[in-house]
Amino acid sequence: VIKQAVRMVSLKAKEKGIELIVHPVASVPLIRGDRMRMEQIVLNLLENAVRYTEDGRIEIHLRSTPDSLLFSIEDTGIGIPEDELPYIFDRFYRVEKSRSRKTGGTGLGLSIVKKLVELQGGTIQVSSKREIGTRFTVTFTLPTMQEEKDEKS
Ligand code: ATP
Ligand code: MG
Repeated sequence: VIKQAVRMVSLKAKEKGIELIVHPVASVPLIRGDRMRMEQIVLNLLENAVRYTEDGRIEIHLRSTPDSLLFSIEDTGIGIPEDELPYIFDRFYRVEKSRSRKTGGTGLGLSIVKKLVELQGGTIQVSSKREIGTRFTVTFTLPTMQEEKDEKS
């Protein structure tokens, strides 16, 4: 899913002089989920990273812990002011109207992303520094061995 989303934004990223780095992973567990929703989540986050970054870098990490699978999308873009961070998942919320006017967009992307992540049983976190960059992390809890057994029976 991540590779596919990366392909979809790679031309735009190249045009803007952005380096897209997908960190290779040895192996991660498979998770059950709706592939289309997963694609929308990753693509929306990547599109934002490209839109709000000028000739910088976007890095994608995918990793797992004993009980979760997580991925992060980190950019070196314009960042989000700290006082606006609590609102970015609200519908139609856009940071600094003046700056958003020139980039286009409706302010719906992240509210949809959050809904989709939660529908899949996951959580999303953001950390950002103005003029430094932004990192979104999406976490899915892995089913326990007992839950796996229950599902099969
Ligand atoms: P849409 O996604 O509906 O086309 P949008 O990108 O403006 O429009 P969201 O994706 O919901 O809307 O993002 C909300 C706001 O959060 C954006 O307007 C932008 O200001 C800020 N934002 C989101 N992602 C980033 C990012 N990676 N770097 C900096 N600002 C961001
Ligand atoms: Mg968006």
